[in-house]
Amino acid sequence: MIKGIITKGIGGFYYVKSQDAVYECRARGRFRKEKIIPLVGDRVKISINHSSNQGTIEEIMDRDMEFIRPPVANVNQAIIVFAVKKPDPNLMLLDRFLAMAENEGIDVVVCFNKIDLDEEYLIELKKCYTAAGYEVVATSVKLGIGIEHFREILKDKITVFAGPSGVGKSSLLNATQPNLSLKTGAISEKNKRGKHTTRHVELLELDFGGWVLDTPGFSSLNLDFIEEGELQFLFREFTPLIGQCKFTGCKHVNEPECAVKRAVEENIISKSRYESYMQLLKEINQKRRY
Ligand code: GDP
Ligand code: ZN
Repeated sequence: MIKGIITKGIGGFYYVKSQDAVYECRARGRFRKEKIIPLVGDRVKISINHSSNQGTIEEIMDRDMEFIRPPVANVNQAIIVFAVKKPDPNLMLLDRFLAMAENEGIDVVVCFNKIDLDEEYLIELKKCYTAAGYEVVATSVKLGIGIEHFREILKDKITVFAGPSGVGKSSLLNATQPNLSLKTGAISEKNKRGKHTTRHVELLELDFGGWVLDTPGFSSLNLDFIEEGELQFLFREFTPLIGQCKFTGCKHVNEPECAVKRAVEENIISKSRYESYMQLLKEINQKRRY
């Protein structure tokens, strides 16, 4: 049997990349009976029919994790891309992405692109998100800055990109390795019906090692299914302070002697991060009222 990884699945066929080749495979019927659906990203063992050169998926290795949307297994990290300018970063949206990633339990790297457009703001943003506990990579595709660092982050991992359109996700990927680009732009521009057609996710192989999902992640950014008391754990820099507030069960809103609010006053936690927390908390409470 040959080991490989599923890079694509279309119409009941799975494309499995092994060390030497890509095999078109069917899955054993027993998977259907056991209600196991092979996913892109699955590490599998296949047998090869040498006359047809097609394969059969015989075994699916245990998954580290799985996403529902996009349907993919074993993603190691998310890279959340924002531009320092054009478009101006919506920090609320960035914090929402970060909270989603925390909730999914996957590693996340924050990438600020287009640093050629505003170096000063970059310094501020970098300070804020480094202090919050995130790895930050600063890039300019235009000037070729940070691309090597970006490659190091991608190496040997399965990565999903996230971030609003126009920030340079496709450009970054293309600068990392020419001819790699994400699907988004193409679908909304060329194919107006793109929304209705079934979208297949595919892993793109990096020639220096690693894989990138061709479809950006976190399509739904709704966090109102989170319990009110759980939200604080999705803000990394709050976590060490929880328990230091005067009241157990402190939500860090109006309570006196709150360690989180004190940290905001002392600039240990950034104001914008705290505002994002308050906004998400409000959304959760509004949802609970209905
Ligand atoms: P995506 O929607 O996130 O995939 O963004 P694109 O890769 O399509 O890029 C959007 C626009 O930003 C394009 O016109 C790019 O040429 C431009 N762009 C990408 N990276 C940079 C950069 O580092 N600096 C500047 N000034 N423009 C960039
Ligand atoms: Zn508190």
